[in-house]
Amino acid sequence: MNTVKIVEVLKKIAAKIEEEKEFLTELDSPIGDSDHGINMARGFAMVSQKLDAVNTEDTGDILRNTGMALVSTVGGSSGPLYGTAFMKMGMALKGKAEVSVPEFLQAFEAGIEGIKARGKSTTGEKTMLDAMVPALDAMKAEWENSGDKGKTFAAGVKAAQKGVEYTKTIIATKGRASYVGERSIGHQDPGATSFTMMLEVLAEEV
Ligand code: ADP
Ligand code: MG
Repeated sequence: MNTVKIVEVLKKIAAKIEEEKEFLTELDSPIGDSDHGINMARGFAMVSQKLDAVNTEDTGDILRNTGMALVSTVGGSSGPLYGTAFMKMGMALKGKAEVSVPEFLQAFEAGIEGIKARGKSTTGEKTMLDAMVPALDAMKAEWENSGDKGKTFAAGVKAAQKGVEYTKTIIATKGRASYVGERSIGHQDPGATSFTMMLEVLAEEV
């Protein structure tokens, strides 16, 4: 993947988030403050706009700019968290004109570590991490097993979707959803859902 392809994927993600804005906001209604879709759509609209002006051969630059746009435009916790993840991915890919699968997996891992540090969070707390961490683990395992790019991204999507289902079964202990305590059971996490949408778009494009 080069910068042209990454910009194309990010624009498709922006379109997908815009399309799913209402749904993501609905998910944030019973366990949050009904703004996840609005937050994400605002953030990715800015990302799209910024990418038009970015002229670089460095894939790291693209992701760093994406992260900065998210941090600066999204007020909710998802902005700083996703923003940090993209910035960390950008740092991991700094100077690279092309990204291989192992490099992507390394960057993805750095992004997850960034979210954990920034959010003081881990898996099992009903957050985006419950889709991200299983996705990364599944992708690493599939890449090691088959070395097949398509299969690797498909395994990631499947694990992320399973992670979203898992968030329905647990109590939120981080973020706004933790305020509703046990009543969060039965509802899927909006952040885990938006992440899975992004990975689905990426998987379709690789
Ligand atoms: P806010 O909660 O500030 O209204 P959003 O609604 O945009 O922000 O985002 C909510 C999502 O953010 C949750 O569904 C969850 O996935 C994620 N989230 C919240 N707090 C954390 C955290 N500490 N660590 C990881 N993810 C978190
Ligand atoms: Mg919210």
